[in-house]
Amino acid sequence: MSIRKEKIAFFEKHLVDFFQKAGREHLPWRKKRITAYEVWVSEIMLQQTQVSRVIGYYTKFLKRFPTIETLAKASWGEFLPYYDGLGYYNRGRNMLEAARTVVSGYGGKFPRDKKLLETLPGIGPYTAAAIMSFAYGDEHLAWDTNLKRVIGRFFFGGKQLVENESFWEDEFQTSKKVLNAALMDFGSALCVARPKCEACSLSARCVYYREKGKGEKRIKNQESLPVRQAGGIKNGKEKNTWRDAEAHVFLHENHKKYFSSDKKIFKPFILSSGYNTRAGIKKYFQEKYDLSLAVRPPHTKAMIKGRPTLLVNAQILLGKPSFRVFLKKDKERYTGKIS
Ligand code: SF4
Repeated sequence: MSIRKEKIAFFEKHLVDFFQKAGREHLPWRKKRITAYEVWVSEIMLQQTQVSRVIGYYTKFLKRFPTIETLAKASWGEFLPYYDGLGYYNRGRNMLEAARTVVSGYGGKFPRDKKLLETLPGIGPYTAAAIMSFAYGDEHLAWDTNLKRVIGRFFFGGKQLVENESFWEDEFQTSKKVLNAALMDFGSALCVARPKCEACSLSARCVYYREKGKGEKRIKNQESLPVRQAGGIKNGKEKNTWRDAEAHVFLHENHKKYFSSDKKIFKPFILSSGYNTRAGIKKYFQEKYDLSLAVRPPHTKAMIKGRPTLLVNAQILLGKPSFRVFLKKDKERYTGKIS
C-alpha cells in the first residue's frame, strides 16, 4: 500500500487536535489509569449499546463488582440486576464465564497478550486490542466500525476496505491509546453515517469529501431514499391498529431451545392486547409462570387471520420453565406458515 507519510501525518495531527478540543474525556472509562478489568467491562457494555446508556450501568456495575474476583463469585441471579436492560444476554453470560476463567486460570489478571485475551469468552480482536491499548499501553489499534469508516473515507473515499491492519499500526506515530480514543470520538461526532464534512478539519485532504463534491447527486439520492418508519407506522389510525394487536411471543433460551404453549406442536404464546407491550409481556410471564424475561421489540407486524398481530422474541433470564421444548427449525416452520 502506498500512502504518503506526509498525508498520514496530516491525518494524525488533525485528529489529535480534534481530540484535545472535543474528546470525551469525561467518560468514566477514560481516566488516565484504568485497569484491564474496567476497560473490559466498558467495552462489553458498549458493544451495540449507546454510550449515554452505558455510563449509568458501568458506574453501578463497578460499585457492586469492583474487582474481577467479586464478579467471578457472583451467580447469574446476582449479576443480572446490574446488566438487565443492556440486552444481548449471551454477552452477559460470557462476561461471567470470562471473569471466572481469568480468576481460575490467570490469577485474576487479564493476560497481557492479545491472542490469549481472544481465547476468553466474548472477547474478539477488537475488545482484546482495546484492553491491550487502554489498560496496558501496548501499540494496538482497536478496529471497530468507527475506525474503519474514518480511515477508509479519508484515505480511500470509503470505497476500499481497510484490510492491511498491521500497515496502519506501523505507520501511525501517535500513541495508539490516544489514537483509538480520538478515532472513536471523531467517528461518533463528525465522521458519522452522514458525515459533517463542512465542520471537519480533515476535509482539505479527505478523499471521501473530494469525491462527494463530484457526487453530490449520490448523497442527495441517499437522502431521498424513503425512510422506513419503525414497524411501518404511518399515521394515527395505523398506530391504533397495532395498539389493539395480539402478541405472539416466541419464548426461548439462548435462541436454541424454543418453548411451546402447546404440548404437541410448536406454538407461540398468544397474549391479548392488554399484554402486547414489552412491560405487559414481562408482567404476564412473571405473574403466571414466575419467569423473568428479556423482551425484544416486535420484529414483525402482520395481519394474521384478519387480526393485527405482533411477533415478539423473548428470552428467559430467570426461573424454571415447565413448557415443552422445540428446536429452532420447528419455530421456523411455524413462522414460515404464518407469514
Ligand atoms: Fe469524515 Fe467528512 Fe471529515 Fe472526511 S471530511 S474525515 S468524510 S467528516
